[in-house]
Amino acid sequence: MARLRGRAEPALLYAGSTDTGRVRPHNEDAFLVSPTVLAVADGMGGHAAGEVASRIAVDTLARVMRKPGKKTADEALTAAIREANQVILERAGEYERFSGMGTTVTAASIITRELTIAHVGDSRAYILRDGRLTQLTEDHSLVHELMREGRLTPEEAANHPQRSVITRALGTEPELEVDILEDLLHPGDVLLLTTDGLTSVVTDEAIQRTLADDAAPAELCSRLIAQANVRGGPDNITVVVARYVGDDTHARPKKRRVWPRLLGVSLAFLLALAVAAGAAYGYLSNNYYLAFSQDRVALHRGLPGAVLGLRLSRVYRVTNIHRDELPGFYQERLTEGIPLTGAEDADRVISEIVLTRQPARP
Ligand code: MG
Repeated sequence: MARLRGRAEPALLYAGSTDTGRVRPHNEDAFLVSPTVLAVADGMGGHAAGEVASRIAVDTLARVMRKPGKKTADEALTAAIREANQVILERAGEYERFSGMGTTVTAASIITRELTIAHVGDSRAYILRDGRLTQLTEDHSLVHELMREGRLTPEEAANHPQRSVITRALGTEPELEVDILEDLLHPGDVLLLTTDGLTSVVTDEAIQRTLADDAAPAELCSRLIAQANVRGGPDNITVVVARYVGDDTHARPKKRRVWPRLLGVSLAFLLALAVAAGAAYGYLSNNYYLAFSQDRVALHRGLPGAVLGLRLSRVYRVTNIHRDELPGFYQERLTEGIPLTGAEDADRVISEIVLTRQPARP
């Protein structure tokens, strides 16, 4: 078992661990824990090729995220994953034994309390908040798509013979769509990144119970892997666990004994501005709408449009519904933006949009 643990800064405690499981001859999974990025990858392809693909994915992420330049976290993660995809395709083209290799990847960047997740495939990200576990990512898998279309129940999906068939992976196409999710962490949140070796045999309820324990992340990783192995360990198992403990120790202002009047007035003015900005930020971050992002239907957080050249929204989640598949009515509405009452409302409106979907003309 390879294991690594670390401590980026007081705000975040994290660890990762991987295990071959009880059935497979090799471990084709890989993981990465570093101050700038956490990731898991589940490689596929015979003769150790899967190991190569998952390794390329995490190494490329580590390299790109070390020096993201002026890119935002979502841009840097997307660029890294697309670059890894190109490298995997190139290697597969160069060497016969690597042909057909591929990998999933689920990566997270945490900057202060801003969490950004990028993912392709069926490795998942979960968050435990206030004792409740929520799956953040949507699997890019055949059974998940059938379930979304209402053709399978969750129980049927869990036992489906083709449940490991994935619909998106690195190493299959030169153009790769990467899903991005964003959230603000609360002190006490526990983030889990995991390959399907855990989630195919350990239930969400069991994962929730384990993560709710206040043990160190490395200990939680060991317990999760042990649970998968107890249930037969049919696949390689890889987990990364990070606990956000908050960073208020850095933000506390120093005490001043004397406040000159002018300074006091300026500070009061700045404070009023900050409160207004905070209120505006609170308003924006509680506002959601659907609109296109690079011609795909996407959930945005904030308000459509811009003020003084500043965008007031960020892409929160991108679907695989393309503009060309939609009737003119929805194309127009989505160009303007469809307001929502909250992030939960998105699923309802998206499922209405899906019903009008037509196959794209070639
Ligand atoms: Mg797997």
